[in-house]
Formats: sequence, C-alpha cells, structure tokens
Amino acid sequence: MIPVTKPYLPDREKLARYIDGIYERGWLTNNGPLVQKLTSRLEEYLGVKNLLLVSNGTLALQIAYRALGISGTQQKAEAITTPFTFVATASSLKWEGIEPIFADIDADTWCLDPANIEGAITPQTKAIVPVHVFGSACNVEAIEQIAKKHNLKIVYDASHAFGVKYKSESLLKHGDAATLSFHATKLFHTIEGGAIIFKRKESLERAKKMINFGLTGSEAIDALGINAKMNEFQAAMGLCVLDEIQVNLQARSDIWNTYEQALSNKFQLQARPKELEQNYSYFPVALKNKDSTKLTLEKLKEKNIQARRYFYPSLETTEFFQNRNNQTVSRSIAERILCLPLHHQINKEDQDLIIELLYS
Ligand SMILES: *Cc1c(COP(=O)(O)O)cnc(C)c1O
Repeated sequence: MIPVTKPYLPDREKLARYIDGIYERGWLTNNGPLVQKLTSRLEEYLGVKNLLLVSNGTLALQIAYRALGISGTQQKAEAITTPFTFVATASSLKWEGIEPIFADIDADTWCLDPANIEGAITPQTKAIVPVHVFGSACNVEAIEQIAKKHNLKIVYDASHAFGVKYKSESLLKHGDAATLSFHATKLFHTIEGGAIIFKRKESLERAKKMINFGLTGSEAIDALGINAKMNEFQAAMGLCVLDEIQVNLQARSDIWNTYEQALSNKFQLQARPKELEQNYSYFPVALKNKDSTKLTLEKLKEKNIQARRYFYPSLETTEFFQNRNNQTVSRSIAERILCLPLHHQINKEDQDLIIELLYS
C-alpha cells in the first residue's frame, strides 16, 4: 500500500538516549527540561517568540481563543472562518461557545477570501480565524486591515504552515496568535502535540496558566484553567524529529517538485503568493469535476494507492454548523480535491505510477 502520508520516525537510538534521561530524572511532565528545550529550539528554528507547547493542535486553538478573550466570557461570540479546512478549526470554536460563521474561499489560493469577510461581520463578531491551508499563506495584509478596522482578533490556524516563510519572515508572526499541530501525520510532529505562537508576551503568560489548571504555585489558583500540557516523551520525539527535519524536507521537496512538473499543465493546483517559502507538506490537486475525482480515486485504490479527499465535505454542509452565506467556491473545490501521497519515503516508481494514473 502507498499511504497518503506516513509519520516520520527518527533515529531510534537517539530517542532511547532521551528516554534514558527521562528515567534518570523521573520528571515526566509539568514543563520538564525536554519541553523547555524543545520550546527554545522551536523558537530558534521558526524565528518566533512567545511559543507555548501544548498537548495537541485542537487545544492550541481553544487555548488561543481563551487567552485572547474571544471565548470564556458571558457574551455571545462569533468568529469568521473558512469552510475549507479540517473540521477542528470550526469545531474548536463551537466547543468554546463561539459560533463559526463561514466566509467563502478564494478560487485560486483556497484560503479565506478577504473580500467575503466584511459581509459576514455582525455586532457579535469577535475574531477572524483563517487557515493557511496546505501551508500556503492567507492574504495576511488584507485580513489585518479588516481586523483593525473592526477591532477583531486574528487567530491563524497554521497547522499546515510549520516553517513556512512569507516575505523572508516566519508566516507564524501574523495574527494575535498562530497555532500549530504536531500530530503524527504532520510535517513536524511530537506524536500528538501542538503549539501557539502569540504576538504578545501577556497573552503567552495568560495561556501558560490556563494549560496547567490555572495554577501559579502549589497553593495558588490564579485563573480558570484546563489541562493542555505537553509531556516529556512527546518533547523527546519532537527534539529527534527536529534534528532530522532537513532530511525530511529534502525528500519531500524532491517529490513535490516532480509532481508539480508532471501535473501543472493539465490540472488545477493551488496558487501560492510569490514571496512564499513553502514546506512541501501536501500536494493537493483539483480535478475537473466530482465524477472524475471519484473515478481517479477508484483507479488509485485499485493499485493500492491512497489519496485523500482532503478537505471534503465543505464544512457548511455538515449538520453541526450553520451556513449564513453561500460557500459555492469551497463546495466546488471540496468536491474536486485530492491530496496525493506525499511523505519522505515515496520512491520514484510509485510516484510515476501515481502520475500515470492521474492522466489515464
Ligand atoms: C491537524 C489539524 C488540526 C488539529 O490538530 P491536532 O493536533 O490533530 O489536534 C487543526 N487544524 C488543521 C487545519 C489541521 O490540519
């Protein structure tokens, strides 16, 4: 079977040495030395400040909403977001009592289209939650202008954008917060895990308390909190995966570039801004229509190749969310999208076969 993605497993002996250290210290969680080390290594690698490690990418979003005061108050709140994303972007809002209000995506970049945001704003709107989908960049300048004008917070779901640069700087610097997922299937992972990058130090300090039950000492409860801590075993995996990230990136970029060369003339690919340095996380292709997408999926399946309809369905079509505006672009892309197999261990023959089947 050729899976659509495959977790990166780093050098096992190195991981064992980290685990030996955990055994010696007997310090398994609660901001241990490996979590601290991974925090500073990631801040350095990504070129960001105010990074907080958490137990997964969904809690990263929830904590970000809380730390920025979007959720957790008695007021009714809404946030404008994209229907073309993994369900956690919208479900995390709803879970926090914030109604996700969808605005349609751009037909070329597949990210939230700034032109559709203002029409979705109501007196209840507290935030914009865009997604740097497939690791491309949203129109961050236009979104920031709208947020300023209407006094809204911005939380980027940057789960796909690990290490992505825009205009020579980390894309994660945009927004009041940007969140990452370190799930096993993501480019960089800690088995399960995530992080929040805050613009301001005060938000980071608030979030630090929140992820540890609101405790500030053994006898002081300073805030209402939850448990969202990363543990030492997760951090050990992260440190090892980070050490080998160049190998992973090189393998992926070779595969990514081969796909692009073979497919860009015939198929619709995601448009990305010129000044983007991408991370080769995904290779999405939009086919002609729903039927050809299903047919291609079947042809691949026959040869034991797994492609994914990622992201399908467009979220406004599910029973859990409302659809106040029309999401025609998102629906059209969601019906035609396939993410092709992309990970560090796809060999040339398999990739040639995938490309051949797409043309067949
Ligand atoms: C993976 C992902 C998440 C959820 O992250 P977890 O770490 O699995 O909780 C959220 N949003 C997007 C866009 C994702 O791809």
